[in-house]
Amino acid sequence: MTYVVTENCIKCKYMDCVEVCPVDCFYVGENMLVIHPDECIDCGVCEPECPAEAILPDSDDRATPWVERNLSFAKVWPNITRKGTAPADADEWKDKPGKEALLSPEPGQP
Ligand code: SF4
Ligand code: SF4
Repeated sequence: MTYVVTENCIKCKYMDCVEVCPVDCFYVGENMLVIHPDECIDCGVCEPECPAEAILPDSDDRATPWVERNLSFAKVWPNITRKGTAPADADEWKDKPGKEALLSPEPGQP
């Protein structure tokens, strides 16, 4: 099992999650983060820390479409270990449905 970052993270990117991960397995894209499934130790600490409720265990059906994307982006995006500044409009995008099409494949700045 692993934990997975899902659609709710897109354009929110609060980054509270990276501060608590004991193995630094978050990777940053232009407008979302992902978890490297081979590095995640399944501790679950990050899940309640996410204000957007974007982090789910891969056993959750809502995570299924995101498992492969977390793996593929974690291989090419930079590692992030410190919380940066959230986007100015993050609160406006929080809880908005239908953000999947807005996912950027570009790497972000750690
Ligand atoms: S705390 Fe949640 S919304 Fe923020 S970057 Fe982490 S997964 Fe994304
Ligand atoms: S479950 Fe634990 S190891 Fe995995 S990403 Fe979250 S904090 Fe890191």
